[in-house]
Amino acid sequence: MTDILIAGAGPVGLTLALALHRRGIDARVLEKREGLSTASRASTFHPPTLEALDELGVFAALRPGGVQVDRILWRRVDTGADATLDLGILGGETRFPFRWHREQHWLTPALLAALPAGTVRFGAGVATIEQGDGVTVTCEDGSTHRARYLIGCDGSSGAVRGLAGIAAETSDYAHRVLRLLTPLDLRDHVPGLDGLGYLYDADASCSLLRMPKVWRLIFRIPPEMSDEAAMAGDHARARIARVLPHLRDLPISGRDVYGVRKAMAVAYRAGRVLLAGDAAHLTNTRGGMNMNAGVHDAMTLAATLRRVLDDGDDQLLDAWAAARLATVREALLPRTDARVAGGDEVARMAALSPEQARNWAREASMLDIAKAGMP
Ligand SMILES: Cc1cc2nc3c(=O)[nH]c(=O)nc-3n(C[C@H](O)[C@H](O)[C@H](O)COP(=O)(O)OP(=O)(O)OC[C@H]3O[C@@H](n4cnc5c(N)ncnc54)[C@H](O)[C@@H]3O)c2cc1C
Repeated sequence: MTDILIAGAGPVGLTLALALHRRGIDARVLEKREGLSTASRASTFHPPTLEALDELGVFAALRPGGVQVDRILWRRVDTGADATLDLGILGGETRFPFRWHREQHWLTPALLAALPAGTVRFGAGVATIEQGDGVTVTCEDGSTHRARYLIGCDGSSGAVRGLAGIAAETSDYAHRVLRLLTPLDLRDHVPGLDGLGYLYDADASCSLLRMPKVWRLIFRIPPEMSDEAAMAGDHARARIARVLPHLRDLPISGRDVYGVRKAMAVAYRAGRVLLAGDAAHLTNTRGGMNMNAGVHDAMTLAATLRRVLDDGDDQLLDAWAAARLATVREALLPRTDARVAGGDEVARMAALSPEQARNWAREASMLDIAKAGMP
C-alpha cells in the first residue's frame, strides 16, 4: 500500500508530491490526461510561493526568462493622479520581496522533473473511491491503487470531491474577462510602470501585467456581450483607447475571453480523502492568488501528513482542514472579489501610512495566510 495517492498532476498535485517526497513519504500521482497541461493560466507567483518552490529546489528552473515585479502602479486616467507601492518594503519578512511573473506551464514540468521517475501515472483519471482502513481507487484505465490517504488535487471539475461526498458552494461572477496580449514594452509608454499597473476612471478599468515576452491587458466585459464581440477589433481598440489613448493602435498579438467563478468545498476532508487547490477553492483571477493558495495548501498538508504518519495523530488533519477552509472563506475569497467600480484606489493607496502600506503588501503577497494550517 502506498502512503499517499494524489489525484491530478497540476501545479498543486505535483507540489504536494514533491513536498512529500522531500519528507521521505511515498506518494504517487494519478493524472487523467496523457501529459501535462500547457494551457495559459496563472502568471503570478507571490513571495511565500517563491519561498516554497525555492525550498523544494525548483525556483531556479523558473528564474531564467521570468519577470521580477518590484513595484505596483495605480493611475486614474481621467485625473492623472497616481500612486505606487514598492514591494521592497517586505524585505524584512521574506527573501523574495517581489512578484514573479511566469506562466504556470513552466512550473509543472520543473516539478515533474524533480520527482523520481514513475511517480506520475498519466492517462489514469480517478473513477471510483472506496474507503475502509485505507482508500482503494480505481482509474479509467482499469488500474487499481491502494493508499493510506487520497488527496484530490484534480481541479475544479475533478471527480474526487464528488466521489468523497463533499458538497461545494459555487457562484459565477457576472462579468467575464477579456485578455489582450501585446509585444510592445509598455514601460516605454506608461511613465512609472514596472511590471504591474492598474489604470482606471470612474467606471472603467484595465490591469497591465508584464510577462516574459508580452504584456497582458485585462479588461472586464459585461455579461450580455458575446466573446466574439468582446474580442472584435473595434471593441478591443475602444477599450484600449479609454485607458491608453496614445496607444490605441498598439500591436495585438493574442486575445481571449474567460469566465470567472468562485467556489469553496464545504469541507476539506471526508475520512481518508482530503482536498487541495482548485478542487477545494476557486476564485476570481484578481490578485493572482488561487494557484498560490493551492501551493500553500500543498506545503502545509505535506508537513501535516509527515506528523500524522510519524505520530498516528489523525486529528491533525482535521486541524489542517479547518485552518485552510477558514483561510479561504475569510481571506482568499474576499481579497479576490471583484473591485467595486467607482472606488478611488489611487486616493486609498496614496493615503496609506508606511505601516498600513506594509500591511497591504503583506496581504496582497499572501504572507499572512500562506502558513495557515502548518502543524
Ligand atoms: C486565465 C487564468 C489566469 C489565472 N491566473 C492566476 C494567477 O496569476 N495566479 C494564481 O495563483 N492563480 C491563477 N489562476 C488559477 C490557477 O490557474 C489555478 O488555481 C491552478 O491551475 C490550480 O492548480 P490545481 O493543480 O489545483 O488544478 P489544475 O491546474 O486544474 O490541475 C488539475 C489536474 O487534475 C487532472 N484531473 C482532472 N480530473 C481528474 C481525475 N478524475 N483524476 C485524475 N486527475 C484528474 C487535470 O487533468 C489536471 O491536470 C488563473 C486561472 C485562469 C483560468
